[in-house]
Amino acid sequence: MAEVSRQRFLDWFGELADIGRTDTGWNRVAWTPLEVEAQRWFEAKAESIGLEVRRDGAGSVWAVTPDADTGPWTCAGSHLDTQPDGGAYDGALGIVCAFEAAAAIGESGIERRRPLAVVAFVDEEGARFRTACFASLAITGRLDIDDVLAAMDGAERIHGVSRESLLESRAQLANVESYLEVHVEQGKALVDRGLALGVADVLTPRQRWRAVFTGESDHAGTRAMAGRRDALVAAAPFIMAVSEEAGSRPGAVGTVGRIEIAPGSTNSIPGRVACLLDVRAREAATIDDLVTALAARFPEAELSRESRNDGAAFDADLRSALHAGAERRGVPAGDLPSYAGHDAGILAPHVPAAMLFVRNPTGASHTPAESASDDDCVAAAQVLADALEARLTAA
Ligand SMILES: [Zn+2]
Repeated sequence: MAEVSRQRFLDWFGELADIGRTDTGWNRVAWTPLEVEAQRWFEAKAESIGLEVRRDGAGSVWAVTPDADTGPWTCAGSHLDTQPDGGAYDGALGIVCAFEAAAAIGESGIERRRPLAVVAFVDEEGARFRTACFASLAITGRLDIDDVLAAMDGAERIHGVSRESLLESRAQLANVESYLEVHVEQGKALVDRGLALGVADVLTPRQRWRAVFTGESDHAGTRAMAGRRDALVAAAPFIMAVSEEAGSRPGAVGTVGRIEIAPGSTNSIPGRVACLLDVRAREAATIDDLVTALAARFPEAELSRESRNDGAAFDADLRSALHAGAERRGVPAGDLPSYAGHDAGILAPHVPAAMLFVRNPTGASHTPAESASDDDCVAAAQVLADALEARLTAA
């Protein structure tokens, strides 16, 4: 069995954490020089353990064993970019766990039946251009290339990306035999359940809705209160109701994260208000039920669906390999749904994919407060190594 090195893991994690660290958090935002610097660290780390670096047309870097051309790759990885003033673990933990697992497997002398790759996907966070999961969408052919490049306005050149290279990147998917990603948990479910690790079973379904309330705009001073038709006053109970309806359904979350007010002047009564609603739940039927309840309570609202994502199921074999690793190593683990988007979720409909979440004592995400203990991180690297080993040695 491959055995990971605690000290090497901690050293490497410290090296990556030094890139983009500021007084207010980690700032390796995608399409900035600090993401490039992190990629240089990635390349150096790959070479130090005998892996060859390949770059795809979306700018992602892949560190592959020298037998890379003999067949598709069993992959593990995550992303190097952070949110602005983000945390040390989101993305970085998955990268360092993958490198440590690859190093341990290399040292173990086990007979791999196929190549092994560590990947760092470009721009998972989408912080600059709202292009979350840029690189995994690109290689799966689901990136809206022209829209995205128009929004990026030349910034894509920092990773040598162009329209042509993005089209070419689609060939990279054929090199991916499977994909495993370790990630810090973005909540406190594992803490509450007394578990160190969570094996993602599903990426939850998610829908975005627009609820429009129409009133009558007029002068905020000269129009008397009696008889006003203020659209924002009509929308206020709707926002409260979203919270109530989601709160009363186990496994559901609902958020009005944006409102558009017209005319949007302090001197005018709001005449038209749109509430942008995000709803996620373990089952798509729960979302349908929640939206139906809102429609019944607010017949005056015009409800329209903006987007629908039915989520993804993670691969059963990879999930059991992760559970088996946790059991062998005596690490308490359980299943856990993922309510946030990840590259693994983008890949899951195309190739076998799975995720391993690491307990986060603060539950914080996208802030420097996110956390994980050294013991839990090293345990995750070991469980990942065991799962990769099982995959790499299977027929
Ligand atoms: Zn992440």
